Amino acid sequence: MKVLLIGSGGREHALAWKLAQSAKLTTLYAAPGNPGIAENAEIVSLDIDDHGAVAQFCLTNNIDFVVVGPEGPLVAGLADVLRAKNIVVFGPSAAAAQLEGSKGFTKDICARYNIPTGAYRRFDNGDEAKAYVTEQGAPIVVKADGLAAGKGVTVAMTEDEALSAIDDCFDGAFGSAGAEVVVEAYLDGEEASFFCLSDGKTALALATAQDHKRVGDGDTGPNTGGMGAYSPAPVMTPEIVERTMKDIIEPTIRGMAESGHPFTGVFFAGLMITQKGPELIEYNVRFGDPECQVLMMRLKSDLLELLYAAATGTLDQVEALWSDDVALTVVMASKGYPAAYDKNTPIAALPTTAKGEKIFHAGTALKDGQLVATGGRVLNVTAIGHNVREAQAGAYSLVEGIVWDNGFCRRDIGWRAAARENS
Ligand code: AMP
Repeated sequence: MKVLLIGSGGREHALAWKLAQSAKLTTLYAAPGNPGIAENAEIVSLDIDDHGAVAQFCLTNNIDFVVVGPEGPLVAGLADVLRAKNIVVFGPSAAAAQLEGSKGFTKDICARYNIPTGAYRRFDNGDEAKAYVTEQGAPIVVKADGLAAGKGVTVAMTEDEALSAIDDCFDGAFGSAGAEVVVEAYLDGEEASFFCLSDGKTALALATAQDHKRVGDGDTGPNTGGMGAYSPAPVMTPEIVERTMKDIIEPTIRGMAESGHPFTGVFFAGLMITQKGPELIEYNVRFGDPECQVLMMRLKSDLLELLYAAATGTLDQVEALWSDDVALTVVMASKGYPAAYDKNTPIAALPTTAKGEKIFHAGTALKDGQLVATGGRVLNVTAIGHNVREAQAGAYSLVEGIVWDNGFCRRDIGWRAAARENS
């Protein structure tokens, strides 16, 4: 099978690495790719925002299957354009991608199908949203409806914070993503991510993960795209997984099909495990980044076969097998991230990796033969072990071998789960 992978981050490097292990693969292409992905795929220079050009490349090169990594092209309708040309594609239609692209859309599905989630209201003007906040009191959560690069959510501990978050949205801080606002009840508990594939009719549970969003040790400081992750998530016991499938995932897939927008692709539920059980915080219509990296380290099945089954309505004919081990990834970022940072700083050396270890490239480029850091989050240093402590030790010993003066990482990825192992 000739496959085209769309994307250029650590998530796509992990997907490329795993797709390249498939016996069914003949050639893997990637656009725009990165130097890590280039180890596993032929890089093609394609503007992925030019959907017509992507379709033309597929037709000219007899591509059998396209795998879309990031959410941006999905929300923008890349999968629709490819499907209209009869190209088999892994990833939801733009209409189904609203599950991530519009928080209000997802909340309405929850209401219709009795899916456990925080009570909410949708608003298209500031005064009404503020009156609702005043009526409900704090803590309360204010969310820009659309995609806001992970920045549109304010978990307000005081009423004033919530009121100013509403002003920010309607004053245009998040552009059109903030033209509508969802105000929802604050949920208390431990967060986890639950990944599933769907072929539009059924859902196949993949695995669970937890990530660390804050930049500083002890989960302090500003939010980031994610500074590390591990899988599985200990909080997701078999009983919680079963409830999540029955109360949240299955009704969602049914709801999407009944609304005329069947969901095909991968999605993950951001869950809060509260006293009452699992409640939905949000959906994402793609693999998480860096959660994908730890999932791919644990996956024993053929990834290409699984993704192709989801894209072609045959998910009931495959199963996903996982290693019982723990995989953990530490994100190395450019100093200054998530605020301003220097670009093109040289990464002088990367250590060699053994089986069960991998350094995925998230934001690198080759400049005159020198590997340089081009992004905020740059490398995903990943290892597998029999428990969290072993995986942590493996990943941090790899970190020691990286020679990059402008890089930093958190020193405590997995601390909560490691502490649980000791207790
Ligand atoms: P979201 O983009 O919806 O995942 O929100 C980003 C983060 O905000 C989540 O990962 C949670 O930590 C937090 N959050 C979102 N909604 C709630 C809620 N209803 N209660 C508590 N925390 C929330």
